[in-house]
Amino acid sequence: MLALLALAASTAAAATPPERSLLLSADAMVDVTSGELVQDAAVLIVDGKIVASGPRASITAPEDSETLHLAGHTLLPGLIDMHVHLTSRADQHGYRQLALSDERKTINGVVNARRTLLAGFTSVRNLGADAYADVALRDAIADGDIPGPRLFVSGPPIGITGGHCSDENLLPAQFQHTGEGVADGPWAARAKVRQNIKYGADLIKTCSTGGVLSRGTKVGAPQYTLEELQALVEEAHSHGLRVASHAHGAEGINNALRAGVDTIEHASFIDEEGIRLARKQGAALAMDIYVTEYILGEGEAAGILPESLDKERATGTVQRENFRNAHRAGVTMIYGTDAGVYPHGENARQLSRMTQFGMSPAEALRSATVNAARALGREEQLGQLAPGFLADIIAVAGNPLEDIATLENVRFVMQGGVIHKEPQA
Ligand SMILES: [Zn+2]
Repeated sequence: MLALLALAASTAAAATPPERSLLLSADAMVDVTSGELVQDAAVLIVDGKIVASGPRASITAPEDSETLHLAGHTLLPGLIDMHVHLTSRADQHGYRQLALSDERKTINGVVNARRTLLAGFTSVRNLGADAYADVALRDAIADGDIPGPRLFVSGPPIGITGGHCSDENLLPAQFQHTGEGVADGPWAARAKVRQNIKYGADLIKTCSTGGVLSRGTKVGAPQYTLEELQALVEEAHSHGLRVASHAHGAEGINNALRAGVDTIEHASFIDEEGIRLARKQGAALAMDIYVTEYILGEGEAAGILPESLDKERATGTVQRENFRNAHRAGVTMIYGTDAGVYPHGENARQLSRMTQFGMSPAEALRSATVNAARALGREEQLGQLAPGFLADIIAVAGNPLEDIATLENVRFVMQGGVIHKEPQA
């Protein structure tokens, strides 16, 4: 019976969810909102949606329901990574990127989307892709042509000439190259927002400071003036789109928050004013505190420039301490990893680092479920195993509230009621 629902991981997902009902049970289930473990738990799924969940004994399934019991496993909501780059690869840094066509990068995205889904990330936010490759990937996944997470995409990131977002600073002047999301001035920034909306973006990505991996930019230096950021955010919000701003330095973080951005990416040098503004405005921080280990460990061999390695050395340790500070101060934290800088499919490694730097396992899980869903505006569909939510469900062996690193080995993946991965016998 299970065969009707199951799909081998290597084949494309069905375009429509199965119509039958399935009673999925396991030894336990994590209620991410309360942080409690529900023993002997079950979830009833009909037409790709959850209609009941809780202790197995409390659920009455229709007589013709299929059943699947995952012995020795714990169920959780599918995870959400709010900062990935599906079209990028961890072994193609620095000058190696220049050899890649937009088409080749799109094929990277097809491969990486599948890896990400099978790692238990059933939704992700893709923050920046050339040539609207992310829009094409999102639509191909939604149509059931290729397996992958539900995608929320930005299109080309919008940034200043020579900035971290969008421009390509590796090429000297005679190539006369300008990145496709480059816009200087409030009206040019508004025009790029409009263009990204025209071509299918779900949200807007910008940069309000320099970055670690871009040549010649400074992580502490602001990019865009407050006036430019205000124009960009106002334009995006007036169309109902949210804005994510890459920002390391405190001045650029605070400029972005004053302009009203919804999420700050990295937030490495956030100061007390930034923490105050984020709390006051309900902005969320996506602090990528795992990636520093990859950059400093394997980055040189992967082609990362020496200046970028220097910048990472000056950033990673401070960022981890500020993660602890911001969390302790009560800022909303969302799970964003910058996967693509390091290998896709390893997205869950950051969970254990979050617990090392001040979060409980339940708080780390909330950052990747309910908090992320709220930051996407999908808090009524994603991030919980509750009635009315989409059946995005994963399972791990053992208890993730005792050992959060079990999430690095997700054994079962269901997305919208379609099974993409099952425990190996
Ligand atoms: Zn990034």
